Amino acid sequence: MSQAPRPTLATVAAIEDAAELFRQANRIVVLTGAGISSPSGIPDFRSEGSGLWSRTEPMEVASLTTFRISPERFFNWFRPLAGQICNAKPNAAHRALAELESAGLKMMVVTQNIDGLHQKAGSAQVVEMHGSLQTLSCTQCFKQVASEPYLQSYIKDGKIPQCLNCNGILKPDVILFGEQLPQSAWLNAQRAARQCDLMLVAGSSLEVLPVAGLPMQALDRGAHLIVINNSPTYVNVRADVVIMEDVASMIPEITKRVLHG
Ligand code: ZN
Repeated sequence: MSQAPRPTLATVAAIEDAAELFRQANRIVVLTGAGISSPSGIPDFRSEGSGLWSRTEPMEVASLTTFRISPERFFNWFRPLAGQICNAKPNAAHRALAELESAGLKMMVVTQNIDGLHQKAGSAQVVEMHGSLQTLSCTQCFKQVASEPYLQSYIKDGKIPQCLNCNGILKPDVILFGEQLPQSAWLNAQRAARQCDLMLVAGSSLEVLPVAGLPMQALDRGAHLIVINNSPTYVNVRADVVIMEDVASMIPEITKRVLHG
């Protein structure tokens, strides 16, 4: 593994400040986006310039409408991404967050990702705002099944997953464009945002509503805010600490200081 470049003095100071906020916090919410999974090799399909975007417009092909009218178009588009997700392993950022939780910090991860990497790393309290690829649901009889046996032949041969009960098409339990967020996940995330005294935004540019509004809910209740993201977000002006660096090197640095001083 390549060695990360040494952080600048300003970054070291920000890491120290972030670690101090973690030490003082009683309830922490970590809001994660595509940026935390890109070091694991999963592209941000919403970002212009990613391979998936240049081939086709994701807001059109990854929409509920396309899925209903022409599921094979969706499944063709989704296939490389599904392959990357299935092969991906948690990176240092996922592992560091899991380490903080198992060390006894009261925290919840609210993620916009569908890859399950937080859980694979060992995080227990995870709310998946955009669903997950772990299960599929039949579009005809609504039976929910574990995706594992179906995904392998879909990724390998392009075979569209079909229900063994009724032959209906199985839809991955991920939230497509034009689809409502799962209500219980959204209520949990909102409650956590309002009750926390520290929110960390990690690897999200906060561009996808309504999740992007959660930091404002936390700030309005007096919570502290840390933002670690490669590019600016709309809440940077209100954050206590802003680190515009790679999450996979910064979160382990913060974790090291929180746990070992
Ligand atoms: Zn069925």
